[in-house]
Amino acid sequence: MSDTMNVELVVIGGGPGGYAAAFYAADLGIDVALVDTESNPGGVCLYRGCIPSKTLLHVAKLIDEAKHAAAWGISFGDPVIDLDKLRTFKNDVVAKLTGGLGKLAKARKVRTIHGRATFRDSNTLDIALVDGGKTELVFRNAILATGSLPAGIPGIPKDSARVMDSTAALDLPDIPAKLLVVGGGYIGLELGTVYAALGSRVTVIEMTEDILPGADRDLVNQLKKRLDKQFESILVNTKVSDMKERKDGIEVFFSSNDKNERAMFDRVLVSVGRKANTHGIGLENTRVALNERDCVIVDPQRRTAEQHIFAIGDVTGDPMLAHKASHEARVAVDAISGKKTTFEPYAIPAVVFTDPEIAWAGLTESEAKQQSRSVEVARFPWSASGRATTLDRSDGVTKLIIDADSQRVLGVGIAGPGAGELIAEGVLALEMGATVRDISLSIHPHPTLSESIMEAAEVWFGHATHLYRPRKKAAAESNK
Ligand code: FAD
Repeated sequence: MSDTMNVELVVIGGGPGGYAAAFYAADLGIDVALVDTESNPGGVCLYRGCIPSKTLLHVAKLIDEAKHAAAWGISFGDPVIDLDKLRTFKNDVVAKLTGGLGKLAKARKVRTIHGRATFRDSNTLDIALVDGGKTELVFRNAILATGSLPAGIPGIPKDSARVMDSTAALDLPDIPAKLLVVGGGYIGLELGTVYAALGSRVTVIEMTEDILPGADRDLVNQLKKRLDKQFESILVNTKVSDMKERKDGIEVFFSSNDKNERAMFDRVLVSVGRKANTHGIGLENTRVALNERDCVIVDPQRRTAEQHIFAIGDVTGDPMLAHKASHEARVAVDAISGKKTTFEPYAIPAVVFTDPEIAWAGLTESEAKQQSRSVEVARFPWSASGRATTLDRSDGVTKLIIDADSQRVLGVGIAGPGAGELIAEGVLALEMGATVRDISLSIHPHPTLSESIMEAAEVWFGHATHLYRPRKKAAAESNK
């Protein structure tokens, strides 16, 4: 027996895109239902992504700092790791945040439905409820926010408990003596950092010529110097071709420059990217169209080919980031409520929460080169930062990408502890169209790492207080 429910707006998927959309719609007085299989909102980000990974990275940082403290005269001894307790701590963080979201949904009178939705047609969803029943939901508007799933690679045993995706790795099944991370993107490096701190010997295999494709090399190099010490090895231009489960481990076959190699590992983490979650949800029963990567095609208001069905977040493709999903949520809800709106951020920040962190926003130096754009780059090395020195962390750099004619800041890149927090100033500067002078004239608190942004601006003028790097005379004259 199935009931029918009618709503003005249904949001399918309760991740940072979906719950942000449902909450905002409710705030605007729209009758909204939120469908997700979990009992509380949160999606990948809270249950098996951003939040559990950052909880564990915080612990990893503590272990590393405690180890490093011996150099300052404080010795803590080797850490004793209670994996059950650590897992409980991580799970408690997730439960606290998702439980909080559940309360916020209730307070806003969002109708939450715990089930899996599929489109029967362009105005009806069939929902298989988690508790066993089913229901039918008729909607005027829908926002599709079904997110993404880990991508796999051919030749990987599907049924081996030793082979993990990011979700399995975050469950901390054990601390493998030897861990292989396949994929040198941010998820693989972050989780590799966690396991290395817990005691695993970590090897990373990356198919392209370097880790973190997309980030500027000078930023990545800061990280590599440290990862070279934390990880056993990082193999680039290397491709995994096969894996075989053995009695005492998993044998991995890989090749580089036509040289075939094999090695044994206790566990393998496959983190080779994510794919949009667009299959098995009945999209073929609607006019919603997909691109060649199976992501939903949307217009600047996040409208699909079906005018009253919108799509936001990972399901629409790159960048697959939580904050992009939440921003799109606002655009889609504004469009539904008849507001003039469009998705046109100048900068969507990217952060890699390794140690050091890497963060960037706006134009990167490599993009400028690819586009043959003439830009100037002002760099402030953290070896000249008082705050970085107090932390014994001179291994950082802050840089600004500047249009020399207009003096406008086009991009910001930071490598160093806390880069993920610092980049927010860069985003604001970019969105406000700040010039390099605006940044140099903004008084930054001392002693903080944020001063590195101001000093990078001063570097461009050739008069950074803590770095003697005079600007070439002709340029200096024209920039007075
Ligand atoms: P998701 O969060 O993927 O949520 C989709 C929801 O839809 C899920 O709950 C799913 O169960 C539900 N769903 C799917 N199909 C249906 C259906 N048919 N019916 C009902 N419900 C359905 N991003 C960052 O910005 N910063 C980070 O530090 C970061 N770290 C990450 C670390 C890891 C290990 C991973 C895996 C990801 C990380 N991400 C990070 C990416 C981030 O998690 C995603 O970009 C974000 O969760 C996307 O949000 P979303 O709303 O599009 O969908």
